[in-house]
Amino acid sequence: MKRYDVLIVGRGIAGNTLALTLLSKGLNIQVVDLPKPNSPSRLAAGLYNPFTGKRTVKTWMAAEIFPFLETFYQSIEKKTGASFLHIKPAYRPFLSIQDYNEWTGSGNEENSSFFLNPEPNHEHYRPWIRNPFGGIEYKHSGYVDTVTYLDAGEKLLQENDCLRKDFFRHSDVEETEEGIQWGDALYRYIVFCEGAQAFSNPFFPKVPIVANKGEILTLRIPDLPLVEIITQGAFLIQKEPGIFHAGSTYRWVFKGEEPEERGAQEIKDKLNKWLNVSYEQLNLQAGVRPASKDRRPLMGFLNQRPRFLIFNGLGTKGVSLAPYWAEELSQLIIHQKDLPEEVDIRRFYLN
Ligand SMILES: Cc1cc2nc3c(=O)[nH]c(=O)nc-3n(C[C@H](O)[C@H](O)[C@H](O)COP(=O)(O)OP(=O)(O)OC[C@H]3O[C@@H](n4cnc5c(N)ncnc54)[C@H](O)[C@@H]3O)c2cc1C
Repeated sequence: MKRYDVLIVGRGIAGNTLALTLLSKGLNIQVVDLPKPNSPSRLAAGLYNPFTGKRTVKTWMAAEIFPFLETFYQSIEKKTGASFLHIKPAYRPFLSIQDYNEWTGSGNEENSSFFLNPEPNHEHYRPWIRNPFGGIEYKHSGYVDTVTYLDAGEKLLQENDCLRKDFFRHSDVEETEEGIQWGDALYRYIVFCEGAQAFSNPFFPKVPIVANKGEILTLRIPDLPLVEIITQGAFLIQKEPGIFHAGSTYRWVFKGEEPEERGAQEIKDKLNKWLNVSYEQLNLQAGVRPASKDRRPLMGFLNQRPRFLIFNGLGTKGVSLAPYWAEELSQLIIHQKDLPEEVDIRRFYLN
């Protein structure tokens, strides 16, 4: 019987990032994944941005997570020859005096020099973006072209004979004293990276994942030459000259996974508050994000099943969270280093 260190189930941003992390550390892994056409990891805009939310606050653990993600994606670019990390300033215009006052009174500016351009050039944006009260410009922001990233990962895993494109049935797994048997192979650990499909995972019953539907638009904006990201309620990212991604919506209650026109309208209403040029809608897509109840990743194992692990709950921030937390999970797998309590899945279970 063949023996492996780890079997990874699911290869969205979470599974792909964990697989590449473990591979780089010399672990003997296998990945099984059956991609969905509207996989959120493939349709994501890939934006990472150190400040988020209506009140524009620094995101959780930004100082650790953001430098780490750039180094990680660059290392995979180097290994694969692919190009998917686009480090770009992100500009957030102030649309009202309240907006400006909230920011200047927040104290964010004083302790964030690593992430903020001290002197953004507001005039640079003014021909196309309404910014009557100026704005702020982030550094260490950008986007990952997630399709190219996932395709590069696929190639690397195939070269290492690690990838199987197949549906994984939980009932095919058998727990033995020596490890986990799946087919004709034995694994020390199995890590579930199933995204929102984790609801039916019997090893993590009632997994505290909250499905969150999101729409994203592709727009043609021939008169907008900006390569910087604009973010104010909605974001706008140039993917190629004249073609942009705009998003996203966040819906906790929804019926199906199909894109809804009201989602497109919601995004356009937000853009229309600050975008001064006309645009044409080319495409509307929707996917379901795997969020968690407390907006923190869901990771690790349950006490009664230490060979069964989970890596999920990345919510709206898969691109920024995955590299740092895949590294932490690899430390748990290789060195039994405990995870911080706030990401440990056991916070939701009474063991
Ligand atoms: C509209 C929209 C825009 C977004 N924009 C951004 C953004 O700009 N920046 C950002 O960071 N994040 C963004 N996100 C969020 C991001 O997409 C998620 O955080 C991320 O995709 C989660 O990745 P995942 O690997 O956990 O899940 P998924 O992408 O769902 O991957 C899970 C994989 O596992 C496979 N799988 C599951 N069960 C099985 C099984 N039994 N057998 C075989 N395969 C299985 C699935 O088919 C899939 O391939 C966006 C999401 C949406 C919907």
